[in-house]
Amino acid sequence: MKRRTTSQQSSQGLSFSAGIPFFQSLKSVLRSAKVIFRMDWRNIPSFVLNQFLITFQPFVALFFSARILDLLATGAPRQKIITWIITAVLCNFGVYLLERLSYCVTNVEGITLYWQLYQEMSRVMMQADYEELEKPDIGLAKERIYRSTRMFWYGPWEVPGVLMAVVQGLTIIITSLALAWPAFMPVAGEGFPLGTLLMVLFIAISACYSVVTENRLYRMKEDGLERMAAQLRRIRFLSRYAREDQGAKDIRLYNQQQMIQTQSQEITRKIEAMSKERATLRSRSSGIRGAMSQVVVCLAYASVGIRAIAGIFSVGNVVQYVGAVTQLAEGIRVLIYSLQHIRMQGPHCQEYLDFIGEGKDPKQYRHRQDGTEHVQLAEDWEIVFDNVSFRYPGTEEWALKDLSICLRKGQHYALVGMNGSGKTTFVKLLCRLYDPTQGRILLNGKDIRTYRSAEYQRLFAVVFQDFQIFALPLGENIAASMRYDENRIRDCMEKAGISDWAAKLPKGLKQPLYTVESDGVNISGGEAQKIAIARALYKDAPFVVLDEPTAALDPLAEAEIYSKFHDITDHKGALYISHRLSSCRFCNTIAVFHEGKLVQEGSHEELLAQPEGQYAHLWEAQAQWYQ
Ligand code: ADP
Repeated sequence: MKRRTTSQQSSQGLSFSAGIPFFQSLKSVLRSAKVIFRMDWRNIPSFVLNQFLITFQPFVALFFSARILDLLATGAPRQKIITWIITAVLCNFGVYLLERLSYCVTNVEGITLYWQLYQEMSRVMMQADYEELEKPDIGLAKERIYRSTRMFWYGPWEVPGVLMAVVQGLTIIITSLALAWPAFMPVAGEGFPLGTLLMVLFIAISACYSVVTENRLYRMKEDGLERMAAQLRRIRFLSRYAREDQGAKDIRLYNQQQMIQTQSQEITRKIEAMSKERATLRSRSSGIRGAMSQVVVCLAYASVGIRAIAGIFSVGNVVQYVGAVTQLAEGIRVLIYSLQHIRMQGPHCQEYLDFIGEGKDPKQYRHRQDGTEHVQLAEDWEIVFDNVSFRYPGTEEWALKDLSICLRKGQHYALVGMNGSGKTTFVKLLCRLYDPTQGRILLNGKDIRTYRSAEYQRLFAVVFQDFQIFALPLGENIAASMRYDENRIRDCMEKAGISDWAAKLPKGLKQPLYTVESDGVNISGGEAQKIAIARALYKDAPFVVLDEPTAALDPLAEAEIYSKFHDITDHKGALYISHRLSSCRFCNTIAVFHEGKLVQEGSHEELLAQPEGQYAHLWEAQAQWYQ
């Protein structure tokens, strides 16, 4: 087996990145901010202003209270006091109004940013070469980003909040220093008072304590992430299984309710135990920090009060300085917390930036050479596989080996063979989703790599085994576009055998599929398959490929599709992959694949005439069930 299993992948590549140096983290966070700014800069100024005003507001009140108290204490004229009071009220109100206004103007909710950043990932992926998407590294990087976001709230979506915390911390520190600086300054002839020294010392101790505890909390979180992620994954799986329709039948018939509940409770207990140590440290450190800030307040009162008694400071000064010193300690804490957060977010932001290729080669997922020639289909055309071999990137074994075959206009081909024999890989190469590792594929004698790949891919309408129908209206699904020709759609639905079903839909072609919309309808596997076939017909491409197109259809529907398809694709090229050999027997040519090789080629009768051949074995094996 060549493909790696998901559990192998997860153990090898899903582990979280270890912490990186602070300045590297800061750089990643700032580069993420640049990406966010580029996505939607219009809301940023109002957002920054809003956060600044929220932080600044208490200082306005503090400043004016101090002034008014001083005026009252010194018996200033009433008129002057009233003017100050009115100014205070107006300033407070003005700041409040500005804050509310900037809040209303800012219509960024975290959720918008979250989706914008995901959209950017989708945009990059949609433009990538198909083969890039199947590379294990990209799959793992995608998974790590989703995990960081969904489980731990890490990633660029957190950057605005983190940077704002830095701005808030700095605003508080600068404003409180501006308001309280005289409290820290020695007075002429007095020397440096002990109270002030102690106050400064305690602020420094409190800051150091914050650094140490935030650091420990960070380490604990990083160390626990991997264990926690495994438990969170389990509980997510169980709760999704218990909630969604898919599990509902099994839950009831196998009486799984009790098992699911017990397992879930056990996992919850484990998660609780894991987070307990951190929660304990967090609450203890916040208690100790609270006590320290009380000591700072006491020392501030003592040092400022002594000077007030000595007549150096006024009553207003006492209120202003003590208030500002208290805020200063808080500002330092906020700043330390936000810097620690930058350290935590850095590696996750970097992972996202690497994924979207920010600051790198914009074509990091587009390595394939595109041709320059236009595809011009002559009356007659043919596609030739000339000794083609193919290995999936990162694998050692050949998925296809030395394959040569010619596909012509108007001819119908069937690919048959056991699972893993290379049929789907053949189709991927035919449509130029991959290029051969060795050999060439030629369209009318020219290597398909010389053609513009978008034009070349227009030649094919393919229904893959894992086709996708979207939670969009029926018409848009079939046309693969928001604008469509209704008559053509009805014609394709008729040919795909889905007209009767569609006629019963309350909203006709505008009917949303799946219950993502409140008025959506759920569709069965067979209906989905017919919609996918109608979509392939609507594309009206010269070559139609159906990869196991009828797996979800009943025998009658299958027979109907096949008989119609032979007529519809009469003048086109058609290729069927099916395990039901009886469906393929009417094709002009049947190509039998075995372990990546084309082992037989011919009509049904020709192949049956070779009793030792692979086809005869497969036919016999199926036929015995019908005897
Ligand atoms: P079939 O369609 O006949 O069932 P496939 O073409 O899907 O066979 O697969 C042929 C071989 O290529 C198998 O061994 C399969 O495991 C391998 N294979 C298919 N897809 C990938 C992939 N994305 N990466 C690595 N190996 C793959």
